[in-house]
Order: sequence, then structure tokens, then C-alpha cells
Amino acid sequence: MILSPKYQLIQKLARDFAEKEIPESMQEEIDQTGKYPESLYRKITDNGFFGIKIPKEYGGQGGDNLAYVLFVEQISRVSMVTSIYISGANSLGSGPLLNAATPEQLEKYLRPVAEGKKFPAFALTEPGAGSDAAGLQSSAVRDGDYYVLNGRKTFITGAPIADFAIIYAKTDFSKGAKGISAFIVDMDTPGISLGRNEKKMGIIGMPTSDIILEDVRVHKDSLLGEEGMGFINAMKTLDVGRLGVAATALGVAQACLEEAIDFAKNRKQFGQRIADFQAISFMIAQMATQIQACRELLYNSAVLKDTNAKDAGMHCSMAKLFVTETACRIAHDALQIHGGYGYIKDYRIERLYRDIRVNTLFEGTSQVQQIVISKELLKK
Ligand SMILES: Cc1cc2nc3c(=O)[nH]c(=O)nc-3n(C[C@H](O)[C@H](O)[C@H](O)COP(=O)(O)OP(=O)(O)OC[C@H]3O[C@@H](n4cnc5c(N)ncnc54)[C@H](O)[C@@H]3O)c2cc1C
Repeated sequence: MILSPKYQLIQKLARDFAEKEIPESMQEEIDQTGKYPESLYRKITDNGFFGIKIPKEYGGQGGDNLAYVLFVEQISRVSMVTSIYISGANSLGSGPLLNAATPEQLEKYLRPVAEGKKFPAFALTEPGAGSDAAGLQSSAVRDGDYYVLNGRKTFITGAPIADFAIIYAKTDFSKGAKGISAFIVDMDTPGISLGRNEKKMGIIGMPTSDIILEDVRVHKDSLLGEEGMGFINAMKTLDVGRLGVAATALGVAQACLEEAIDFAKNRKQFGQRIADFQAISFMIAQMATQIQACRELLYNSAVLKDTNAKDAGMHCSMAKLFVTETACRIAHDALQIHGGYGYIKDYRIERLYRDIRVNTLFEGTSQVQQIVISKELLKK
């Protein structure tokens, strides 16, 4: 896709920021310590990047989905964990609010997210309800002007640093998915506690934990949208979120390619650059071609979503499925080109390989994307 000057500028903005502000030494430290630098968080805030996709009337930049995927791809090419901070605010955190919040809720929660003053969490998954999200067991029982929430949410991105979470719980167990409602819950509400900070394979520096709900009383004003509309809200949010995950994976795949090219040009075996072995140069040609195909699919899906095209949701799932699976294979090949050095932490590819892996898992596994796509194609 040939991008207009406006979109090229967005790409350049993200690329310049990431290359200048997130040096490799900083990333190694984040990966080793698990601590995300406050100074970098502040720079993201000051530049308004937590609100790239949030409408201008709520303090954001008002970007569309194409602008967003271009932005995320360039950030992720340098630092995937940083792209998770940005997508946490722009996508999973603000999507449910944009779908269903009242003007008061938008002022109270969305504006501070755009301004980097509040960090949100999206809490759908439970120990017994991952792919089968509608099978969640958390409950919300009405008690006068309040709801009382009980349950446990699992693998929640940013929970330990979040100011509030969108919690999905059942207000009516007899109605299945139609009995799920969404609530905006401040994380300092009595009855909320966190599970352990998960020791993850990658994206170290973005904490992930369970959220435990024990008799958490929230006012009825915390209900997000109507009772029973929570599942639709979550699915709508994930629809768009999947574009962001694909963009994240694409950025890391591009970084893998660049690392592989650099290594192949410098490593010598049998008296020549390994880049001059056709087995290696063809792998690089394949990787670059696959990245280009991913890029076209992703950008096109973003435009379909921006123009409310029919089947846009299915295309978002296609983009997530194809780009994340392809990107993981590219990371595998890029590491292969590094030989044994790829397995050593001194080489950047080792971290890229770990970081990229989660993209085929969260916001719906690859199998779930295939369910979404095939259901749409085979519906009566
Ligand atoms: C780092 C990280 C961050 C996360 N962040 C969040 C977050 O912020 N908020 C949130 O709510 N969740 C979050 N998640 C949860 C994530 O969305 C789930 O892990 C994911 O949806 C899969 O659920 P599961 O892990 O329970 O796997 P399961 O659903 O148990 O799946 C196990 C395997 O079975 C397959 N499978 C399941 N059902 C079917 C089927 N019908 N047909 C074919 N195959 C099937 C799956 O594809 C998978 O391969 C996060 C997860 C991770 C790892």
C-alpha cells in the first residue's frame, strides 16, 4: 500500500521516537530487571502516545486504525514491551469505554488514560475461561444501588500498575454470554487484590497478574453499558485489538529480519560470509517477502475497519492469524541464521524470539481466529 504523506509522517514520528528514546542498553536492562523506566513512561505521556487512537475531544490524538497500526509497528520494531504499554491504553483499556461509556465515565476514565494519568486493565480471562471467554464464572450481584463482585481474573496485562480495570462478570448466569456485564472498577476498591507477578517468557517489563475479587462493592454508576451487553463490548474491543497485536508482531518480525541480515553479512564460515550461502540468502528473501505480505494484509484490514466495510471483523482476525503466525516463523528463522549465538542473551534475537511468541496466544489464540473466520464464511 502506498501511504499518503500524513501516514508516512506518523511512521516517522514513531520510528524516530523509538530509536532515540529506547536504546538497546535500556531494553536489556528492562529485560533483566523487569523494571520499566519511569522516564520513558513520562516521555510516552508527554508525547501523547497513550492517546494515539483516542478521540481528540477526550484529550487523545484522534488517529484511525491505519495510523494506529503504523505507529505500533514502528514502536514494536524497537521495543515490543513499549508497544504493549501503548496498546494497553489505546486499545484494550479504552476500547470498552469508547464502545459503551457514559459522558461522565468518559471524562472520569478515558481522558486520564489519553493524558497518561491513569493506566487501564482489561480483565476478561479467568482460570477456567480463556478461549471460552463466555464461560467466565465471576459474578456481580445487585444489592440496592451497588453490585457485589466476586471471582478471579487471570493473566491481566498491567494489573499491578493499573488504576482501574474493566471487569467482566455475570449478572445473570442463566443467560450465558448474554448474562455478562462490564464494570469499571478502581483498583483501590476494598476487596481487590492481586495474584503473583507472573514470571513470563517475554515482554518482561510489563507486569501481568491475576485480579482477585472478594466482595468488591461498586456503585451502579460503575456499570459500563447495559446489563448483559458486556460480552458484546469485549468482542468489539478485541476485534480492533487484534489489529494492534498483528502490528506488534509485524514490528518484531521486521527487527528479526534486520538482525538476521546484519549477522549474515558479518559471520564467516568456510572462508566466506554466511550471507553468500544460498540457503541463508534464500531464507532472508523469504522472510522479507513474508513481511511484505503481512504488511499489505494488515494495512488493508485496518482500512477496511476504518471504512466500516462488511466483514471487517473477519479481516481483523485474518490479519492477526496470518501476521502473528508468520512473524513467529520469521523469528525462528532469524534465530537459526544466528546459529548458536542466537541462543545467547548477548544477541538481541534471543529477546525478540521470546517477546514475539505471545502474539499468537493473547487476544484470541490462532485457533480462536480460525473459529471466527470459518464461522463467518460458513454461516447460513
Ligand atoms: C502475557 C499475557 C497477557 C494477557 N493479557 C490479558 C489481558 O490483559 N486481559 C485478559 O482478559 N486476558 C489476557 N491474557 C489471556 C489470553 O487472552 C488467554 O491466555 C488466551 O485467550 C487463551 O486462553 P487460555 O490461556 O486459557 O488457553 P485455552 O483457552 O485453555 O487454550 C489452550 C489451547 O487450546 C486451544 N483451543 C481452545 N479452545 C479451542 C477450540 N474450540 N478449538 C480449537 N482449539 C481450541 C487454544 O487455541 C490453545 O491452543 C493474556 C495472556 C498472556 C499470556
